Amino acid sequence: MNKKRIYLSSPHMGEREFAFVKEAFDTNWIAPVGPHVDLFEKEFCELTGAQNAAALSAGTAAIHLALILMKVRRGDEVICSTFSFAASANPIIYQGATPVFVDSENATWNMDVNFLKKAIKDRIKKRKSIKAVILVHLYGQSADIDPILELCNEYNIPLIEDAAESLGTYYKEKQTGTFGKFGVFSFNGNKIITASSGGMLVSDDKNLIQKAKFLSTQARDPAPHYQHSQIGYNYRLSNVLAGIGRGQLCVLEDRVKARRANYDFYKRELGSLPGIHFMPEAEFGRSTRWLTCLTIDPDKFGVSREEVRLALEAENIESRPLWKPLHLQPVFRDYPYYGSGISEELFETGLCLPSGSNLKKEDLERVMEVVRGVGKR
Ligand SMILES: *Cc1c(COP(=O)(O)O)cnc(C)c1O
Repeated sequence: MNKKRIYLSSPHMGEREFAFVKEAFDTNWIAPVGPHVDLFEKEFCELTGAQNAAALSAGTAAIHLALILMKVRRGDEVICSTFSFAASANPIIYQGATPVFVDSENATWNMDVNFLKKAIKDRIKKRKSIKAVILVHLYGQSADIDPILELCNEYNIPLIEDAAESLGTYYKEKQTGTFGKFGVFSFNGNKIITASSGGMLVSDDKNLIQKAKFLSTQARDPAPHYQHSQIGYNYRLSNVLAGIGRGQLCVLEDRVKARRANYDFYKRELGSLPGIHFMPEAEFGRSTRWLTCLTIDPDKFGVSREEVRLALEAENIESRPLWKPLHLQPVFRDYPYYGSGISEELFETGLCLPSGSNLKKEDLERVMEVVRGVGKR
């Protein structure tokens, strides 16, 4: 195989990241503390409209701290979108609580408010204590937040938005992740912008974010010696990585444009093929098209999603099935689920195409030709 590998979503550095990293070296701030960390938080708030932010080592750490701050404990329940990555739900288990999974709707592929309502009512009837709802915004597409938030408010359940895949996504002209009690973002290597790893926890509540910073730095009480009256975590972001993050914030809008242009290309070139349907973009906001996702009806297209994926792989092109619903995962199989199989069907038929902001026209054309070719066979 001598064709260059085309990746699903690879890091794409701008012009300033390296200078910020060099500054960290030059000033010897090689620690999970320093000026880049503070500035990364400040600039992140300016860019997203978030009120307060804590820079953390990962998006998963941000979800975990949000649950800790909402006092989620053994025996409690936390409702979570089933159509997501395991990291959305793992912290529920870290806390000894029970995840309750809720299915997607067709319009956004994200949480269906009707099944959320059903879940809340049924859990209350069963005398369970629901401590939070984790709402995921997948693939750069916002969930329909307003009705979900309204329902959460009605039952007094805090909403945690997992916006790890939706930095740059707007719901009614506002950044996703800024609606709930908490918003969670990720700067892992495959996200729309990356610091190699890292995460951000945001909230309107200044005290909660201060508490998150305290817990993420081992919960040290103010004292000259090491004094602890609570269990802490080593979850703070490194100052070196915060430098990369600051550079990446400068190019976020360019990355959104490039990813949306990828989608436009695929849609134009593949959208009229029989049995191919692209992920919808709800009219209430802007999707970043972090990943271009489509579903393949094998009866109409001629071959299945898996055959398309293997044909791409044979040409050294990485593509991926959509997320396997969490209620189908072996580790989560025994937990409650409310839905009608929409996420299951998306998993069966869905594919993510290479979507990096650094893909070249010839890369996109290679992908397009394989998909077209395999369908005709
Ligand atoms: C990437 C991701 C996370 C986890 O973020 P990390 O920074 O990798 O810990 C959580 N939820 C979703 C939906 C993600 O895609």
